[in-house]
Amino acid sequence: MPIRRLPEHLVNRIAAGEVVERPFAVVKELTENALDAGARRIDVFFRGGGRTLIEVADDGCGMTRDDLMLAVERHATSKLEGDDLVRIGTLGFRGEALASIGAVARMSIVSRAENAPEAWEIRVEGGRVEEPRPAARPRGTTVSVRDLFFATPARLKFLRSEQAENREAAQTIRRLAMAHPEVAFLLATEKRRMVDLPVQTPEARMAAIMGRDFATSSFAVGAEREGYRLHGRASLPTLNHGQPSMQFLFVNGRPVQDRQLTGALRAAYRDVLAAGRHPYVALFIECAPELVDVNVHPAKREVRFRDPALVRGLIVRALREGLDAAAHRAADRLGEDLPSVVARRGQGGASLPPGLSRAVLEAQAPFPSAGTVEPVPAFGLAETSDVDARATPEGLNAADDPVACAPQVPDADMLSKPLGSAVAQFHDTYILSQTEDGIVIVDQHAAHERLVYECLKRQRESEGIAVQPLLVPEVVDLPPDHAEALLGAAEDLQSLGLKVEPFGDNAVVVREVPAVLAGGGIAKLVTDLAADMAEQELPLSLSERLDHVLATMACHHSVRAGRRLNREEMNALLREMEQTPRSAQCNHGRPTYVKLTLADIERLFGRK
Ligand code: ADP
Ligand code: MG
Repeated sequence: MPIRRLPEHLVNRIAAGEVVERPFAVVKELTENALDAGARRIDVFFRGGGRTLIEVADDGCGMTRDDLMLAVERHATSKLEGDDLVRIGTLGFRGEALASIGAVARMSIVSRAENAPEAWEIRVEGGRVEEPRPAARPRGTTVSVRDLFFATPARLKFLRSEQAENREAAQTIRRLAMAHPEVAFLLATEKRRMVDLPVQTPEARMAAIMGRDFATSSFAVGAEREGYRLHGRASLPTLNHGQPSMQFLFVNGRPVQDRQLTGALRAAYRDVLAAGRHPYVALFIECAPELVDVNVHPAKREVRFRDPALVRGLIVRALREGLDAAAHRAADRLGEDLPSVVARRGQGGASLPPGLSRAVLEAQAPFPSAGTVEPVPAFGLAETSDVDARATPEGLNAADDPVACAPQVPDADMLSKPLGSAVAQFHDTYILSQTEDGIVIVDQHAAHERLVYECLKRQRESEGIAVQPLLVPEVVDLPPDHAEALLGAAEDLQSLGLKVEPFGDNAVVVREVPAVLAGGGIAKLVTDLAADMAEQELPLSLSERLDHVLATMACHHSVRAGRRLNREEMNALLREMEQTPRSAQCNHGRPTYVKLTLADIERLFGRK
């Protein structure tokens, strides 16, 4: 076939494939244009999941008749001064959006420029541009896009359900709205208003988008390095989500969904969140335009920093510092739920509010830092407990004394410790302790898991993980691909104290284990580790993988729910938690303890 120049409408359709992949992309482009036009109010109507109608109306600067004719042409933009692709201060700059949308839909733009005596309308259908005609409208612009992709029916097949498209459109508006609290936004479908935000302060806008738990369950982030400034808020690990949809990242006011940046978030939260859980964050990076290239993605979702490693380091460090500082805080939901308890109590119901069981109150004083203490978790080694536990029929184990559960006299200084003095264990799972001004309930498995993990990490970072050779090496049967995955990492595992060797096709033999894990459960641990490694979809960095292995080990070997503990063991666990960084959350981000002050308890009983 001879080479030929493609006709304009075909070029536009091809470009449209990249710029407007799906309806939410149209919402994004049109809303960005409205923001660039200085709008203070933007109304978006979205019908039929965006297939039937997408309409974006703004009160921005508007366009003249001549502007309209140019605006719908490809590569026509008012946003680049000279040829400078570096200093880009607007959301748009490629001059492709309107031409692309006009190429694949039926588009009408009605606009009235500042001080213009009348409005004009221009229509473009499947790339065919009509002459502008006079119209009526106050200052601003309304772009209506009907029958999206009618000109490229193949695209229609890729659209998702109406609800999924609605959700994406709402998410798109929220992203832009987060960066522009000075603008009011409305997104309505034929059924409901999905986003409805008045002009707000930045704090109020953040709360409106992130939910009310975010304000109390997050910490402020602020850091600066070599021309890059980071600010915003990020959630405590206890506030997390199964999807990354609550992660809002901005570079110079532009929402980005950049893999490098989300990778930095993952790295920062790696120790405190289970794989597959995501923190809530609203983070803004500000830098001089020449330190970042925004022209690397057709939909401008990704950016390229001049110094990506520096930016990654800035984010990871700032978040880790914040997480460490907040380590002994967790989501405070109790306060909000109290009124409902009291109300229900009035009706004779005794049930606890939904939030209560998960409520964790801030520890009064921050725990002392780990300092020089190097405790080895007390419960990793013993498989069985020698406790002569006397469980009551309700499942309450009065620690030593079957009758009196009050702390004993020598406990006086333990009472003043943040996690108090152990009173009892109940359901073989929870430790109840008394503090000077209230009570603490500890989830022993979650707490111990964190302690083992932190201990393993400390050992690895200092003298290396203490190893115990097995007197009788343990043979573990595994599916061949799992065995292969495990043995592929044999060297790394050995550096963590786990020595595995091949044993036929379908098994491995374990010769050494970390001392802290000795005593049992090795087969199950190895089976799970191998499965994890075989199924890992993400290629993790070495240190990420090692941490993951340690976390898996810790999880397997911590005091399981169901183990009896005597008072001494319980108190030792509490003391160790006080000494261990990040012990307020388990490795999966769940709280390890709940604290209720006497005042809280009195309020629960309506005494106050
Ligand atoms: P870009 O935003 O990259 O410049 P677009 O195709 O999105 O490209 O828009 C082309 C031009 O049309 C813009 O540069 C701007 O001058 C004008 N324009 C588009 N939308 C609006 C609007 N809502 N209000 C005022 N002007 C607009
Ligand atoms: Mg644009």
